[in-house]
Amino acid sequence: MQAKLCGKVFMMKGHGSFMTDLSNQYKQFGISESVYAYGEEILSSLRERFRQIDEVAEYNQLKVIRAMQECNVSEACLLGTTGYGYNDLGRDTLEKVYAAFFHTEDALVRPQITCGTHALALALMSNLRPGDELLSPVGKPYDTLEEVIGIRPSKGSLREYGISYRQVDLLADGSFDYEGIRAAINDKTKLVTIQRSKGYQTRPTLSVARIGELIHFIKEIRPDIICMVDNCYGEFVEKIEPTDVGADMAVGSLIKNPGGGLAPIGGYIAGRKECVENAAYRLTSPGLGKEVGASLGILSSFYEGLFLAPTVTANALKGAVFAANIYEKLGFFVVPNGSESRHDIIQAVTFGSPEGVIAFCQGIQAAASVDSFVTPEPWDMPGYDSQVIMAAGAFVSGSSIELSADGPIAPPYAVYFQGGLTFPHAKLGILKTLQNLVDKQIISADFFKI
Ligand SMILES: *Cc1c(COP(=O)(O)O)cnc(C)c1O
Repeated sequence: MQAKLCGKVFMMKGHGSFMTDLSNQYKQFGISESVYAYGEEILSSLRERFRQIDEVAEYNQLKVIRAMQECNVSEACLLGTTGYGYNDLGRDTLEKVYAAFFHTEDALVRPQITCGTHALALALMSNLRPGDELLSPVGKPYDTLEEVIGIRPSKGSLREYGISYRQVDLLADGSFDYEGIRAAINDKTKLVTIQRSKGYQTRPTLSVARIGELIHFIKEIRPDIICMVDNCYGEFVEKIEPTDVGADMAVGSLIKNPGGGLAPIGGYIAGRKECVENAAYRLTSPGLGKEVGASLGILSSFYEGLFLAPTVTANALKGAVFAANIYEKLGFFVVPNGSESRHDIIQAVTFGSPEGVIAFCQGIQAAASVDSFVTPEPWDMPGYDSQVIMAAGAFVSGSSIELSADGPIAPPYAVYFQGGLTFPHAKLGILKTLQNLVDKQIISADFFKI
């Protein structure tokens, strides 16, 4: 068959329709026709789920645009300052945009906040004083917070500064232990930390509505207790945020959902004026607070990233739902399951063997645009008792709103998968994982034949 392009006549390989066929594109990534067909069958069952995800994205897109319009975002806001960064219009306006989006009095959104852990540590350390007590009513917090709090001893922990910690675990069925929480609250209790995402635990992720019920319960006991929500991985997944249901602060990382894949660094704290001011005084210096902190040249990525965040989060969510259904139907234990409602972008799949975890992560890596040629292997990562394998080929190093996966090489041999700036990329990654598991005969090729 002949085709004309740029005036030159050349021979096309195969037939025209086959050339532009999607399955042929996937074949070039080593994905067999049967794996592709299985993926298409799963996808066709997910149309209604995807429609609902798109609706939330549309709702949140309008919320973001409205926040930007209300705050008079202008071209000048996209520029940056240097040095002290006094009168940084773009930085100050962006913080107003975050406050408008989260419906809070104020916000701190800075490249000087280096990651999610830093944002959370900042919110805690600036709002707690010696003699105060911190309470987690939802069980053990995210791993990196153990050293911040002093659950694991560390230099400069809250514990070293005389701030005590109490924890009430969720009940076996995942519900709040209201009686335990009531008993744990005392005169010293100053701040309650509520982690929205399950992180790398097996408990369910909390919906915003459930977070609201918990905050309501706490405020009825003592209205002056500060309720902080670790919002990492949860932003834009629902139409409301924890600050809409009574949270005094929502805290997160810009290299997860709200940076939309574009922010190269940063964290945010959105909340009550006094809480945000305390955090600013701690981030920079007493007396200086929000007035200093040059934004350099990266504000346009913060604005554009926030603008894209609702649809980027939707793409990551679709990837998570697709992965859950692909593996659930093959008989693997998945959390959340294929049909339940979602409150964050993380998907856990339990393979029950180290080979399964490794094959999955290597499949994700092979689908990357950056570093696709490297083969991840399990390694002794500092701070973990077992070896860990990680797959990431990201434009922003370590960004987990981009397609990524990791898993500890320990029972139950589960892998945690998240991200994907576009759904086609997430789909490719998931099909690659499945192909890898088939090629390594961890999943029998007959198993999913349709
Ligand atoms: C990622 C995450 C953090 C820590 O953020 P880093 O940017 O990795 O420091 C804290 N809490 C939760 C729930 C997270 O998902």
